[in-house]
Amino acid sequence: MEFSSRARQKHLRLAGDRRELYPHSLQFYLEPPTETISLVEFESFAIDRLKLLKVVENLGVSYVRNTDSYNTKLENELRKLKFPYRALAEDDYEARRKDHISHFILRLAYCQSEDLRRWFLQQEMDLFRYRFSQLTGSLMQKFLEHVNLSFEAVSEDLKTELENELWASTPGLSLSKVKEQMFYKVGLADAVDLFRTRRVFIKDGFAYVPFKEIDAIVLNNYRTKLSRALALTARSLPSTQSDERLQPLLNHLSHSYVGPDYSVQKNTGKISLEQIDALSVKSFPLCMRQLHRALRDSHHLRHGGRMQYGLFLKGIGLTLEQALEFWKKEFIRGKVDADKFEKGYAYSIRHSYGKEGKRTDYTPYSCMKIIMSNPPSQGDYHGCPFRHSDPELLKQKLQSYKIPPSGITQILELVKGMHYQLACQKYFELTHEVDDIGFSLNHPNQYFTESQRLLSGGREPKKELSNSGNSQQKNNSQESMNSNPTPTSSNTTADTELEELEAYFTED
Ligand code: SF4
Repeated sequence: MEFSSRARQKHLRLAGDRRELYPHSLQFYLEPPTETISLVEFESFAIDRLKLLKVVENLGVSYVRNTDSYNTKLENELRKLKFPYRALAEDDYEARRKDHISHFILRLAYCQSEDLRRWFLQQEMDLFRYRFSQLTGSLMQKFLEHVNLSFEAVSEDLKTELENELWASTPGLSLSKVKEQMFYKVGLADAVDLFRTRRVFIKDGFAYVPFKEIDAIVLNNYRTKLSRALALTARSLPSTQSDERLQPLLNHLSHSYVGPDYSVQKNTGKISLEQIDALSVKSFPLCMRQLHRALRDSHHLRHGGRMQYGLFLKGIGLTLEQALEFWKKEFIRGKVDADKFEKGYAYSIRHSYGKEGKRTDYTPYSCMKIIMSNPPSQGDYHGCPFRHSDPELLKQKLQSYKIPPSGITQILELVKGMHYQLACQKYFELTHEVDDIGFSLNHPNQYFTESQRLLSGGREPKKELSNSGNSQQKNNSQESMNSNPTPTSSNTTADTELEELEAYFTED
């Protein structure tokens, strides 16, 4: 892919129509795009795919895959974001192109670490599984031929000859079903999973796979290809990292969160310092509750904690004067005297409010940023407890917060599956006694806002899972915060400047 500058190419499609590249709505994404695209299109495609994958993640946890509700919700999201949603549509060239390009952009962004690769692979697999299941028999056949996975159908005569063996070796099929079902001869390398779990008949180096199991073969093949491709892409990262236009965008995407940035806060000055203890119990997400507790207990936080918690407090509405008073009061109860506080800490607090240095108004951290960057070390309290705490410690913490045992089990299951934000949503539901959180959690400040709205009776908990990966944008009260959720170069600049700000917080 080549990229053109934003100023010259705003929203222009730069390449001609390349319809012949996409004979099917479904793709294995074997060839990277070679056309020139504008940076604007690059960003918007990537953000839309990220939204789609977040919905895939949410649905995968909330619904049984391949059920009607799962399929309907996923199709709605595909339609809304203008990705291919119907195998038969002939005129979805633009959607297929967007699907292709956006997959490769996120592949670049999400190959950068083991965690990112695992998350991306899981969501892309689920998306592929759904799309494959929507193909008609003939389209499936065409697709398999296209990706060189066409398998030889077992003739009726051979099937009759082998029917007892097929029946005995294929769990879940009665003899009559064996007679009805098509079987395919598949090389053992392609049928490893079925072979390993003893779910197929093997003869002369071929697995005899019933039609209903072909999706397992295709998915396995896709998984192998994609996971290899991610490893290869990771190896080519140094050349991408040298592109100064691309790298900030890719970093932003991999830490991305598709919602308001909470840097503009309507509640400024509406929260008093005396309320913070009570709010930390009722309305803070676990990461901030943990930081608040640590601050109260030890009268100090190391710089990672001060950054994460300080910006969160700013986001919920603390004014600069309140922040200075809050931190000072707490720190001088510990080992820091007033003079040292003024010299060592007050400047950095003013800086984070845009009153010093470059006067940038800093943005509170999103969940993705907290989860993916700067993991806590010994003596640190920042990070996301669902991601960074030992499961046993997390369990004890949840017990001490009176979360019921069944809820703790659900949370730990989600954590085990690496669904950290969904674990946090479950924590919200349990602490607020609602059946369904009704929004997709992406930001600690969003957690706080939604909690306050719920506790003040400002909203009824929704019973339906929102299909959007970014449903809080639909709330009128938040729309004004950020009408364009797409990370822009200004977000990227803010990230760079945030790094600079961190330098001011180096004193532990
Ligand atoms: Fe905090 Fe987000 Fe982790 Fe929840 S998921 S604890 S809000 S970082």
